Amino acid sequence: MVFVISAPSGSGKSTLVRMLLESLDGLDFSVSYTTRPPRGAEKDGENYRFVTREQFVTMRDRGEFLEWAEVFGYFYGTARSMLEEAQKQGHDLVLDIDVQGAAQLKERLPEAVTVFILPPSREELEKRLRSRSLDPEGVIGRRLRDASKEIRNYSAYDYILVNDRLEVAAEKLKSIFLAERCRKQRAESVIQPILKTFEEERTDG
Ligand code: ADP
Ligand code: 5GP
Repeated sequence: MVFVISAPSGSGKSTLVRMLLESLDGLDFSVSYTTRPPRGAEKDGENYRFVTREQFVTMRDRGEFLEWAEVFGYFYGTARSMLEEAQKQGHDLVLDIDVQGAAQLKERLPEAVTVFILPPSREELEKRLRSRSLDPEGVIGRRLRDASKEIRNYSAYDYILVNDRLEVAAEKLKSIFLAERCRKQRAESVIQPILKTFEEERTDG
């Protein structure tokens, strides 16, 4: 399963994705490529693959991205290899991407599950962006302006999740994920061996 999560910056998306990854097995995080410089304690290969604009454009022109977009003046993209690797391992994949990327992905992979996270209010979003204290003042202003535009895209998503109380939102996100994993189309590999045990009983008897 490809599980896509989008939200205005500062809504708590990274925090919720981290909690989801910690609480489940068989789920990998899709590490994106970006031309943005590392922020705070971010590590190359863990949060993002930090590359130059030239490296990014070369990869893009070779068709190595499943989707890509320009966000806040930087390029971000999901490498096709992330999905191939997860498929090889039989794992699900969670993508933290923006609204433009999510739209491209849904077009290419209509079975992808998309979740949009909303902050409880603009005031709370501003508070969270400041409490994170990783962005300069001008960047915070821009992120808030962009948030009001991004939020208008909520209706393209399968699920909407309000991140008010963190523990509650984390529980809801996990519930969405687990319910989607149980969809019959995805559960074929689980169903077939069980059905087979019943067939054996029938031929025995
Ligand atoms: P995003 O990845 O969406 O940009 P972060 O996960 O970095 O956002 O969260 C932004 C800030 O808000 C962080 O300081 C985080 O600890 C805090 N935060 C996240 N969720 C909540 C919540 N439900 N209530 C209060 N603060 C939160
Ligand atoms: P940030 O710089 O705060 O880490 O991320 C800025 C925005 O870029 C967020 O909305 C995040 O979801 C988005 N983003 C991160 N990786 C990708 C990606 O690979 N593709 C797209 N389209 N957006 C991404």
